[in-house]
Amino acid sequence: MSRCDVVVGGGGMVGMSLAIALARGGLDVVVADPVPQSAALEPKFDGRVSALAYATVRMLTALGVWQHMAEHAQPIRDILVTDAPLGGEPSPFSLHFDPAEVGAESLGHIVENRYTRAALFTVAETLPNLRFVAPAAMTALKSAPNGIVATLANGETIEAAMAVAADGRESPMRDAMGLKVVGWSYAQWGIVATVEHEKPHNGVAYEHFLPSGPFAILPMTGNRSSLVWTEREDLAPAILKLDDNAFHAELFRRFGAHLGAIRAAGPRWSYPLKFHLARGFVQPRFALCGDSAHGIHPIAGQGLNLGLKDAAALSEVVLDAARLGLDIGNLDTLRKYERWRRFDSLALSIATDGLNRLFSNDIAPLRVLRDVGMGIVDAIGPARRFFMRHAGGDVGKLPRLMKGKAA
Ligand SMILES: Cc1cc2nc3c(=O)[nH]c(=O)nc-3n(C[C@H](O)[C@H](O)[C@H](O)COP(=O)(O)OP(=O)(O)OC[C@H]3O[C@@H](n4cnc5c(N)ncnc54)[C@H](O)[C@@H]3O)c2cc1C
Repeated sequence: MSRCDVVVGGGGMVGMSLAIALARGGLDVVVADPVPQSAALEPKFDGRVSALAYATVRMLTALGVWQHMAEHAQPIRDILVTDAPLGGEPSPFSLHFDPAEVGAESLGHIVENRYTRAALFTVAETLPNLRFVAPAAMTALKSAPNGIVATLANGETIEAAMAVAADGRESPMRDAMGLKVVGWSYAQWGIVATVEHEKPHNGVAYEHFLPSGPFAILPMTGNRSSLVWTEREDLAPAILKLDDNAFHAELFRRFGAHLGAIRAAGPRWSYPLKFHLARGFVQPRFALCGDSAHGIHPIAGQGLNLGLKDAAALSEVVLDAARLGLDIGNLDTLRKYERWRRFDSLALSIATDGLNRLFSNDIAPLRVLRDVGMGIVDAIGPARRFFMRHAGGDVGKLPRLMKGKAA
């Protein structure tokens, strides 16, 4: 049996960020994942981009990761939100977010997930006290007299002072440790595709609220944008199966002509959209981090930002305890993390859930209500700045990493 300070189940973007933060703080860390590194870096593994808030960019910079991905990042120079019936006239009210209003050059960056993963792996390889074991799922966790023992699918057992489940939405380790979730399905799928267009996007991100759900056009490097097209679950499978011409016609009805001629490039991906929130984030010597703790609607592009904030807060709490010579797996220590992160996760979950319900329909009185609401927010400077600071992740108690400092 090998030994380390922290064993992490899940080497996704959240698990790797957490592991790097802990290793940079001087702890010995092992990360296990069933997916080999080479497979996780293949373009077909994950076609998504993520909108990374500026607080997240500060964190990735402090971890030494951003410098390995910055060339692939497209700054968001403006966000335009409109409400439109499919094929009809958009509402006269729209929302417009300009970063100059909050003294920023951009409202965050759009990066393809594959580049973020590659940058995280590059940095992890430079840290002698971080070991990545893959392919090897974590299959069991058992308490030991002064620690916790993780069993991996490759037969290895690892004793650690604490274990973290960063193993995604289904989180087998969350279930194994008996942490329950509340959750439901949105009866929507997120269809993701890359679109090449004739005209430059100038860094503008668009969110059109269509009756089936939000249709986001996120600017990528070059004359390319990534779509997150929310569609009803009874219609999405048929749309995914359309031939290229028919898919293009459906796409054009929603995308519009503002960027000139468009062409869907590469494969189409789909993600069933569900909500869940764990009732508790910790147990003695065990914590949840990222999507294992919460899964929210992508309407505001905040799921990964939320998970990275967990990683920043958990590493801070654990490293502070280690520096004081305390037991890092102690429940009192881990409860500090839970108190810090659970309320924030709950608040964002309620907000994104409410927004999706308010906008994903064609009910006339609701349409009037939300359009007037958008017009009011757009007309009031402090309201606009409030939403921009939330989108930028600069609200609430920020972990040190999200202020750009060491964990
Ligand atoms: C359509 C869509 C668009 C999105 N857009 C955005 C956006 O713009 N901005 C944003 O902030 N967020 C966005 N999100 C949310 C974001 O993608 C997720 O919140 C984020 O990927 C979660 O990362 P994670 O590391 O917690 O989980 P995951 O990425 O699911 O990683 C979990 C890892 O655990 C591994 N694993 C599974 N089982 C085990 C096991 N037993 N043992 C060990 N490892 C295991 C998996 O192989 C995987 O590597 C979007 C989501 C969707 C669906």
